[in-house]
Amino acid sequence: MSRPDFLIIGGGIVGLAIAKELKNRYPDNHVTILEKEEQAGLHSSGRNSGVLHSGIYYPPSSVKAQVCVQGAREMIGYCIDRKLPLNRIGKVLTPTRKQDALQIDLLQQRALENGVFVERLDEKSLKELEPEAFSVTGEALWVPSTAVGDSAAVMQSMVSEVLHMGIELRFKSVITSVDVGARNVKMLSGDAVSYGHAINCAGLHADSVAHKFDVGHRYTLLPFKGIYWKLDPNSGLDIRHLIYPVPDLRVPFLGVHTTTMSDGSIYLGPTAVPAFGRENYYGLKNVTAPELFRISRLLMQQTIAGRDGFRALAWQEGRRYFKPWFADAARAILPRLQDNHLLPCDKVGIRAQMFDRQDKKLVNDFLVERGLSSTHILNAISPAWTSAFPFARFVIDNYIER
Ligand SMILES: Cc1cc2nc3c(=O)[nH]c(=O)nc-3n(C[C@H](O)[C@H](O)[C@H](O)COP(=O)(O)OP(=O)(O)OC[C@H]3O[C@@H](n4cnc5c(N)ncnc54)[C@H](O)[C@@H]3O)c2cc1C
Repeated sequence: MSRPDFLIIGGGIVGLAIAKELKNRYPDNHVTILEKEEQAGLHSSGRNSGVLHSGIYYPPSSVKAQVCVQGAREMIGYCIDRKLPLNRIGKVLTPTRKQDALQIDLLQQRALENGVFVERLDEKSLKELEPEAFSVTGEALWVPSTAVGDSAAVMQSMVSEVLHMGIELRFKSVITSVDVGARNVKMLSGDAVSYGHAINCAGLHADSVAHKFDVGHRYTLLPFKGIYWKLDPNSGLDIRHLIYPVPDLRVPFLGVHTTTMSDGSIYLGPTAVPAFGRENYYGLKNVTAPELFRISRLLMQQTIAGRDGFRALAWQEGRRYFKPWFADAARAILPRLQDNHLLPCDKVGIRAQMFDRQDKKLVNDFLVERGLSSTHILNAISPAWTSAFPFARFVIDNYIER
């Protein structure tokens, strides 16, 4: 039985970034990544918007705030150094509903506290900068540092790099059970791997993997699907930057927005509609009866309780499965958009959103839990793609090396 010093479960951006940082710190140690799929990036890390967030949404005390601002700088540098696609386009953030008007002050304040340059736009400057964007007050925030990368290209580059560094990356390796005392994991194939320290970066399965290590029983996954539509290049809409609505900061979703890729194509989305399985990307695919029951029961309980705007979220987002309601959400930022400007596309992702069974709420911040010779990354939701490099250092400094 092989025995790596560090065994990483999950080869998404978080697992790869932690592997790379560990190998840099401990070149003589054996680092192994077990990835259940036949290639890396088949889940969140290859299915996201690719936006390198500037870090203006998060309270300064949060882990997200500590790693996002620096993360965006490092990921931009990574793309430039390796000549990967990058669109340094900037973002306009507008309040689209009366109740969001004051949030813009809060976001401006958070940007200041987190060290991110933003500019307040009045009605005239917004019209000049982004003529199509709607703002209920006429005002907006301009965030020039927001950029868009290509998550598939970054994943490909990271895989080559970790292999080149001598890190072992084993595909088709699904963890099925753990013997915590003996420090070994068993795989679906029947093979076993023992470890010095295990790091769970299993994304949509991070809670169930943690539970196998007897860690994180307080948390369970509540998956939310992000559906996108592609903007018809002949729509005639003049979209110059990313356009985002001011979000409801009680929930960890940013609202339907535009994303302009480096090839100029524009996507609208993602939604945050409930998914009925951890990997339920399309139709009823990957839906199992126990998971459907678990997720539906949780959604029902939260909707009835109506905490933190959950009832409004469920009602508003649930309808966005259907094109007319999705188009309405998109029209909140782009009033001239017509339903027929939205072309179907197969871009879809599912957020690895954790639900706290004790506090009965969605977890907002990144969450890391320590077990016996193991560390568990729970709730690696957005902006974990942006933040992957400093987040890896944060996890190693504060959990793995302690
Ligand atoms: C719709 C959407 C849009 C987003 N947009 C952005 C954005 O614009 N900017 C941003 O910064 N972030 C964004 N995010 C968030 C970002 O994509 C994630 O935070 C990030 O990709 C998380 O990476 P990860 O490595 O934790 O997860 P993943 O990429 O999901 O990797 C986890 C890996 O673990 C593997 N695995 C699972 N179970 C097992 C097991 N039992 N054994 C072995 N392997 C296992 C999986 O196969 C998977 O490859 C978005 C996410 C979604 C869903």
